[in-house]
Amino acid sequence: MAEFPSPTMPAIVAMLDRLVAFDTTSAKSNLALIDFAAEYLGRLGATTRLTYDDGGRKANLFASLGPAERPGIILSGHTDVVPVAGQEWSSDPFRLAERDGRLYGRGTADMKGFLAACLALAPEFAAAPLEVPVHFALSYDEETGCVGVRRLIADLVGLPVRPRLCIVGEPTEMAVVVGHKGKKSVRCAVHGRECHSAMNHTGVNAVEIAAEMVAFLRRMQGRIRREGPFDSGYDPPYTTVHTGVIQGGTALNIVPRDCRFEFEIRNLPDHDPETLMAELRTLAQTLIGDMLAIDPACGIYFDEAYTAGLATAPDAEATQLACHLAGADRTAKVSFTTEAGLFHAASIPTVVCGPGSVAQAHRPDEFIALDQLGRCEVFLRRLLRRVVGSAINENPGN
Ligand SMILES: [Zn+2]
Repeated sequence: MAEFPSPTMPAIVAMLDRLVAFDTTSAKSNLALIDFAAEYLGRLGATTRLTYDDGGRKANLFASLGPAERPGIILSGHTDVVPVAGQEWSSDPFRLAERDGRLYGRGTADMKGFLAACLALAPEFAAAPLEVPVHFALSYDEETGCVGVRRLIADLVGLPVRPRLCIVGEPTEMAVVVGHKGKKSVRCAVHGRECHSAMNHTGVNAVEIAAEMVAFLRRMQGRIRREGPFDSGYDPPYTTVHTGVIQGGTALNIVPRDCRFEFEIRNLPDHDPETLMAELRTLAQTLIGDMLAIDPACGIYFDEAYTAGLATAPDAEATQLACHLAGADRTAKVSFTTEAGLFHAASIPTVVCGPGSVAQAHRPDEFIALDQLGRCEVFLRRLLRRVVGSAINENPGN
């Protein structure tokens, strides 16, 4: 391990201070941070590509150092953070505060700490004779369902040279994560027919239809829990199904016309959530038949979003490299979803490895420990040694 605290640590902390000061709560624009990072990396000689959301209020940055004609290594992180509304903070969440070897602020763990380490070390990557390119990928709207990075990946897939591998720096305490579950989020809207509750045979009760579907999902979860499929690398070791929101009805004496509910399927990477959705659609078809007989305007509608699971092989180059860089002798799987699943789905070999703990993410008084940033710095310095000269192709070991 390198000396700690290292001479670079003040630069990493200063960079984190800059990044935390940008209020990039997902509902807001991230352009100020992206402009800052694009200008900073551009000054170091990086080529930059931007991909925007529909309104042009948010952007992804893809910045590259090194020979453009060779496949490079992506260091990837999202720029957005979860809201602080309703949380009790001991200090301003958008001003970095150091206390007892910890740096407090919104996004310090998830995941501006990783971005700060990457950006603070970027001048050294820029000054080195890189044999293998290094790319910095900064995305928007991860926290709202990995929305932004999809455009960045679509842009990458069209480039003449595809990236070699990707490291997503979500907080894993520098464990090398090779697997995570996928996540299907579904909003279901049931549209029935309103009428006086005393005449309920002339209406279609949207709350009751929705309740049947929610109960069906609950039984589905029970079956999966008993029968699998299972992967003991996950906790829990099976696909989870859960309804989190339901809204419907206006008064007890009115048969409700509308009911909406939201559910999710967090699937094992090899367990296709579409097979589960197909079961629900079959039920919906049966229910709709009776609904339409009363009023042809009735319906059941699904609005779906999916982030693929991650399943990178233990012997993949991305896994071997990250284990070497992190000094890890094993890999891990986690239940939360990241952008890594989307890179993986685009056939870019990907692992998740970053400083800080997910236990501190999304909470009041979010922090990252200085020693975690130190370990991330060691990781990036080892990467720098690997991408200079042809050492990337040699066996692991310094
Ligand atoms: Zn995150």
